Amino acid sequence: MFDPIRNRFRFRCPATERPVDAPLSSFRLVERLPGPGHPAVHRVVFACPACGDDHASLVPEDELDCGAVRPGPEHVFVNLQTGRSEPLADEFADTAQRELRRGNWPWTFYCAPEHQVRPGYPSRLRLLSPTPDRSLVGVAVHCSTCAAVSINLVSYRHLDQPFFHDPVVRYVDGSFDGPLASLERFRDELWSSRFDEERTDFGA
Ligand SMILES: [Zn+2]
Ligand SMILES: [Zn+2]
Repeated sequence: MFDPIRNRFRFRCPATERPVDAPLSSFRLVERLPGPGHPAVHRVVFACPACGDDHASLVPEDELDCGAVRPGPEHVFVNLQTGRSEPLADEFADTAQRELRRGNWPWTFYCAPEHQVRPGYPSRLRLLSPTPDRSLVGVAVHCSTCAAVSINLVSYRHLDQPFFHDPVVRYVDGSFDGPLASLERFRDELWSSRFDEERTDFGA
């Protein structure tokens, strides 16, 4: 379940047996379950905000990618003019359409082999790792246009606030060809990398 007001995914912590709300930036690994399953389901490993351990959870692709821009009917807000509870979905659909018409995707990343900013929906993320000082997050993203995997260094807000994009993206030149299942290998690659910078068209 995704909370579109706070931009948090609702998971369950097996250690405390309580629900926890985790932002996209707390994800560590996203992998699509094998098979032709429809709708597609992804296994998400996230850093638990309650106990600090990593936990795995299954999330349908639709919820992963569309929860932030197309809230379900259970999400309502109180209209201050009418005093009535109204569905959030209409409000969000309007905003999303306006942004998309401007060519602004909810999430983007810099595809290094193509030298282009591309849409980077959460289901396209593969591995995430925060910098040691926790100021930025390294992400490996699978490009839906050219299928290459690029490494970017982005702000927490870039991940956690749909339609916000860092004005400057940092990326590793070339495609990441390490084994995607290994978070350790990704971390090694990340911290031994030199990042180039590219200014995007997106202001804050
Ligand atoms: Zn936990
Ligand atoms: Zn690409």
